[in-house]
Amino acid sequence: MARKPLIAGNWKMNQNHLEAIALVQKIAFALPEKYYAKVDVAVLPPFTDIRSVQTLTDGDKLSLTYGAQDLSPHDSGAYTGDVSGPMLAKLGCSFVTVGHSERREYHGESDELVNKKVKAALKHGITPILCVGEKLEVREAGEHIAHTTTQLVEGLKGLKAEQVKDVVVAYEPVWAIGTGKVATPQDAEEVCGAIRATLAEKYGAEVASSVRVLYGGSAKANNISDLVACENIDGALVGGASLDGDEFTKLCALA
Ligand code: PEP
Repeated sequence: MARKPLIAGNWKMNQNHLEAIALVQKIAFALPEKYYAKVDVAVLPPFTDIRSVQTLTDGDKLSLTYGAQDLSPHDSGAYTGDVSGPMLAKLGCSFVTVGHSERREYHGESDELVNKKVKAALKHGITPILCVGEKLEVREAGEHIAHTTTQLVEGLKGLKAEQVKDVVVAYEPVWAIGTGKVATPQDAEEVCGAIRATLAEKYGAEVASSVRVLYGGSAKANNISDLVACENIDGALVGGASLDGDEFTKLCALA
């Protein structure tokens, strides 16, 4: 089954709402509407920018989509500082990253919580981008595949096969994130292939062949082509390079 590539720009905690408007305008100007027939592109700004991004994309009827970087497992209530799935859905979010390594590391997010967040996103019609991947010491111990596929299985626990079809998985080796040390296409493909094999084993070949598996970790315009040429890599989750409009759109054009 042909999977449409997805390039998603994770802005992390960067760009105020005015900077967000400028960056989205730059992307919209550089990528002609016909481009989106071949590749899906999303930006994932901080919560405070989402309304501005929505106004631009709605107003100009852009095919550029957007989403958030996290969500609460709860729909509403006494959860100070959290933002819920219904709130993001109301703002037109198409995607939300769940279980990013920075959330796991700095906010102690467990696989159990990540699983609840995946379910919360799906419940509100938002595509979760489930982030999985190993730290350097895990890779050095040769346990990167077992570690990553365990995160995958735990993150998807309790979902029906038809729900798994609506999930995007991002393989993000932690040692490659923000370090400039991109995984080789061979290393990335080894794990992305294992992710797809695990999906096939648990949910069947049809589901496995329809789920998009992204690579993330120092992806840039100069390395994206070799990564997306791999059989099991369907695009990228891009951090640092998504903050530079020229670099990001060049990367998109090469994906
Ligand atoms: C990320 O934050 O998901 C990421 C892949 O970052 P970078 O591209 O900067 O490594």
